[in-house]
Amino acid sequence: MTETPPPEMPADPSASPAEPQPSFADFDLNRQLLNAVAELGWQVPTPIQQRAVPLVLAGHDVLGIAQTGTGKTAAYLLPLLMKIKYAQGESPRAVIFAPTRELVMQIGAEVAKLAKFTDLRHVCLYGGLGPKTQIEAVQKGVDIVVATPGRFMDIYLAGHLRLKELKIMVLDEADKMMDMGFMPQVRRILEVIPRKRQNLLFSATMPDKVLRLSEEFLEFPLRTEVAPQATAAQTVDQLCYLVPNFKTKINLLGHLLENEQLNRVIVFTRTKEHADNVSKFIGRKIDKSVRVIHANKGQNTRINTMAEFKEGDLRVLVATDVAARGIDVNQVSHVINFDVPIIYEDYVHRIGRTGRASHLGQAITFCTPAEVYHFAKIEKIIRQTVPQQPLPAQVNVEETPFDEQQAMLREIDAQKRRENPDFKGAFHEKKKAPSGKRIPNKAKKKRPSPRKS
Ligand code: AMP
Repeated sequence: MTETPPPEMPADPSASPAEPQPSFADFDLNRQLLNAVAELGWQVPTPIQQRAVPLVLAGHDVLGIAQTGTGKTAAYLLPLLMKIKYAQGESPRAVIFAPTRELVMQIGAEVAKLAKFTDLRHVCLYGGLGPKTQIEAVQKGVDIVVATPGRFMDIYLAGHLRLKELKIMVLDEADKMMDMGFMPQVRRILEVIPRKRQNLLFSATMPDKVLRLSEEFLEFPLRTEVAPQATAAQTVDQLCYLVPNFKTKINLLGHLLENEQLNRVIVFTRTKEHADNVSKFIGRKIDKSVRVIHANKGQNTRINTMAEFKEGDLRVLVATDVAARGIDVNQVSHVINFDVPIIYEDYVHRIGRTGRASHLGQAITFCTPAEVYHFAKIEKIIRQTVPQQPLPAQVNVEETPFDEQQAMLREIDAQKRRENPDFKGAFHEKKKAPSGKRIPNKAKKKRPSPRKS
């Protein structure tokens, strides 16, 4: 079943004065929730809220397809809070699962804001630190649990969670949860919670595997969607640069950051090593107002860094995809994809960090010859061609070191082989007969000792 979609973007007050403005007061919400919304300064429900809130309030299972930045968290939280209304008993009546601790914390923060004028109690359960405090919080009595599946199950199996009262279950960012291998844990959870409950599943994208999960998990769901599958947020202006190598990427980044309009920037890298190198470079050469988060950073460092970035005390945050999951910061001016993500849907999540809730943002992607292949796939997924800009004249184009060149050629060969299994591989041919044609690069002649790097 699919409901008829209302207009795509939040109503623009100046757009058509004739049309009635949607309002939070149209929803069947209580005064406490409406006051919280008013205090947050939210004037108009976003499209996913306009669609999902009435469906959830009416008790349906809902499959919501919406990216981060569309207001999807409140789209399920507002009706959920309305349904469980006030503190009652000891055991949770609602549980929300999310793939990462950052997202769990972000959802927890949104619960705290929206439930501010109620007495509802919530706890966040996530790994990366000892469970003692979390167990104590659960034991005090709780109405809403926000959790990563692994930690939730650990605490349940240790006998600290009673699930008999559970009435509502939400899976947020289900696509990411599947990518991160959480499905076996989610299935185990489904076995231990009451069958009669309301289920909500939210996902930024709708690959077949999420569709299959929704068939398994939801009962007669109503599907609601705010953008076609993986359509990049419409408020984000995207562009890309073709860059020959890592060092030139660094130079380009340095050049872009000279522009003060880039005042709140997230730089995404594919690996922890790149994240560390990029952040050291920025700190040394461009702006001391930079920090890095990735999986090797301790929980406290990550929390403090996020807090600083949210407060606006940091200009640049360098992050890997996993660490950045759930980052919720409004008005990020620019997202820079220092590397092209190879989990393509991460691109949508990354650029969803800018242009949030109708602020115009810009997403800039750096693309080496070996990454062009992946970027083309991303363009296919988002059904958009991202305009390519020439490298600015001020950017110093570095020669590609021999090792990096070899690694890229190897990658390009692997990509060609993936597309055409008969492809023999230029890289290996080249090795046999190094004509110099295949690596049109001075660095090859200069060939430093490859051992050095
Ligand atoms: P989400 O898509 O849930 O990650 O939300 C993105 C951001 O938009 C969060 O910072 C929310 O607090 C904010 N937000 C959610 N709903 C609204 C709304 N109706 N008006 C303005 N901001 C909103």
